[in-house]
Amino acid sequence: MRIETCFFCSNKIYPGHGMVFVRNDCKVFRFCRSKCRRAFNKKKNPRKIRWTKAYRKTNAKELTVDPSFEFEKRRNVPVKYDRELWNKTIEAVKKINEIKHRRECHFVMERLRKAREYEIHRDIVDVQKNISLIRSPAIGLKERRAKEEAQESALLMDVEAEEEEEEIQYVDARKLEKQLEESAALEDDEEMLRA
Ligand SMILES: [Zn+2]
Repeated sequence: MRIETCFFCSNKIYPGHGMVFVRNDCKVFRFCRSKCRRAFNKKKNPRKIRWTKAYRKTNAKELTVDPSFEFEKRRNVPVKYDRELWNKTIEAVKKINEIKHRRECHFVMERLRKAREYEIHRDIVDVQKNISLIRSPAIGLKERRAKEEAQESALLMDVEAEEEEEEIQYVDARKLEKQLEESAALEDDEEMLRA
């Protein structure tokens, strides 16, 4: 008993299922269902049809390079029946299948994670480009008002600063006058002393 694989979609073909086509050059083609056979008869290339394993492998949708694929090989050397060997082989097959499944899942998840990252990046760029479509106009009004207020307050500050400067100038003038008066008085005193 041998579980064959479909020529077109690489599905498993259990005994009693599917169809076999033998070309006149003696090449054997096995198909799992009529869908695959009809696609083959239409001369479709399985690498270009999306639902086949061949397409998924050529387009890096599934794991292609892995040591777990090495176990499954066609060995046409007959093995003498040995109960121990059979038991061991069946145990090993179970373990290998589990490992294979886990690796495939990991590969697919990694692939999807990358796609998700790219999607997020694209969304961010999209939002940055079309921010005017999302933002409500009220925010623009608020910003404008805040700007105007800031400008007004700045103007007021300038006026106050000018006023303060003028006051300081007044003070300076008065001080100068006082100083002048004092110096004049001192000179008068000196003249008086000389006299
Ligand atoms: Zn098939």
